[in-house]
Amino acid sequence: MEHKLVYFGNDTLKMQSEPVQTFNKELKELTEEMFDIMKKSNGIGLAAPQIDIAKQIVTIDLSAEDRGEKLAIINPVITDISSDSVPFEEGCLSVPGIYEQVMRPSKIIVDGYSVDGKKVQYKTGGVLARVFQHEIDHLKGVLFIDHLEEYIRKEYTKELKKIKKMNKK
Ligand code: ZN
Repeated sequence: MEHKLVYFGNDTLKMQSEPVQTFNKELKELTEEMFDIMKKSNGIGLAAPQIDIAKQIVTIDLSAEDRGEKLAIINPVITDISSDSVPFEEGCLSVPGIYEQVMRPSKIIVDGYSVDGKKVQYKTGGVLARVFQHEIDHLKGVLFIDHLEEYIRKEYTKELKKIKKMNKK
């Protein structure tokens, strides 16, 4: 089955995703497909809700920027955050064309599972910590634009209307 990106306004993007229960071949194939979609769209992170699947699956690929990280994480949970809050410009394949600074903790610990069902933990900072937080938000139905001040978000009313219509194409 082939999956496609969905955009701001799509219902799955607003949902709490379900944890994955079965670690099988289908799951592995789905993450491979997510890596392909990311690559084609020049994305560095993708969460399953962004292709209309309300499951707790995240893929991250920073290899194009030579940071080497290419990973899939299942049922990820942020279990610790640093006390600071730093700005970083974010964008999103589900909200194309909009880029804004978002404040988030600089370092985090993420616990989850590999596609084979093995427990994994990432203690991370920098871009990877940022992508993790952005993608894990997707699993809770939260978009990066939900973190923006109301007056900044309002500036994008027109753009967001246009993006909503992309779901019908
Ligand atoms: Zn996103």
